[in-house]
Amino acid sequence: MAYSQPALPYAENALEPCISAKTIGFHYGKHHATYVKKFNDLVAGTPYDNQSIEEVIVAVANDPSKAAIFNNGAQAWNHTFYWNSLTPNGGGNPAGALAEKIDADFGSLDKLKEELANAAATQFGSGWAWLVLDKGTLQVVKTSNAMTPLAGGATPLLTLDVWEHAYYLDYQNRRPDYVATVIDELLNWKFAESNFDDAQA
Ligand code: MN
Repeated sequence: MAYSQPALPYAENALEPCISAKTIGFHYGKHHATYVKKFNDLVAGTPYDNQSIEEVIVAVANDPSKAAIFNNGAQAWNHTFYWNSLTPNGGGNPAGALAEKIDADFGSLDKLKEELANAAATQFGSGWAWLVLDKGTLQVVKTSNAMTPLAGGATPLLTLDVWEHAYYLDYQNRRPDYVATVIDELLNWKFAESNFDDAQA
């Protein structure tokens, strides 16, 4: 029961000029695809083959002997979540219950955006910045390499990939410019609202 790489939710050029079709082509077609293939190769014929990818990620997260399964599985999952965290003509403001929760937990949407940008800019080396719901509270967190908030039981609402492969072709070393552009132009607040509402249900 192999894990299939979900189709991109938009065309490879749909995020231009913020993220180029060339970046998305390599990122989705090479990097993400390779994580999915390696994960499937590693779990083939093992008991993990019969579990969901989320179950496998949680099951192996604290087992150093399963690091390759964790790294490739988490990267497969994180990237699918990242594609859905972006949308053409994104940015703007969340609505509904999530908007109220952001005001309650961060004070304002601007404060949340500032924390997210700071987490993304200061993650040392490869990793991710996230908006998560953890034990009933919204939080901004950053993770290294393949690490995912799923492993610790938090509910991810949005993510930004800050591995160099996510931005280097378009922004070179200017990670903060990539981060600001994603936050202002591409974040998919409808996806975050949906994840938040699902977590309440
Ligand atoms: Mn990536």
